Amino acid sequence: MVLNFLILVSTFFFMEFMAWFTHKYVMHGLGWYFHRDHHQHERGFFEKNDVFFLIFAIPSWLFTMFGMMDGNDWKLFVGLGIALYGLSYFLVHDVFIHRRFDWFKRTDNVYFRAIRKAHKVHHKHLNKEEGECFGMLIVPFKYFREAKRSMKTS
Ligand SMILES: [Zn+2]
Ligand SMILES: [Zn+2]
Ligand SMILES: [Zn+2]
Repeated sequence: MVLNFLILVSTFFFMEFMAWFTHKYVMHGLGWYFHRDHHQHERGFFEKNDVFFLIFAIPSWLFTMFGMMDGNDWKLFVGLGIALYGLSYFLVHDVFIHRRFDWFKRTDNVYFRAIRKAHKVHHKHLNKEEGECFGMLIVPFKYFREAKRSMKTS
């Protein structure tokens, strides 16, 4: 039970690393074709960038399915960890930061201000080169300091 929980949490944090790595080296590299419309918005609700959700859904589905077939072993918790990360990424990045849905309008604290600021800095660059702040849930400490300061003045 405790071990399964640890597997789930470790997978979740490993996925933050994977998201950072994929964003920096794939999306801003060979995969730029799919990521470009996230930096240079086009009309319509869906972005080509959304295919990355489908790609990450595949390992999640496979781990979950094979884990269940093997009597709910560790693979199930890897699959759930990936799914939980995908859901968090969607809620934080697509809903909270980019407002694709009208939820969490009043969510406001130092942590959320910091990660939103860091991601806005990522979006200042419209092209694939010279990117910064590729992570999502873990961002450089300076953004926390900035967020703390902005909390005091508002
Ligand atoms: Zn990007
Ligand atoms: Zn966007
Ligand atoms: Zn974004």
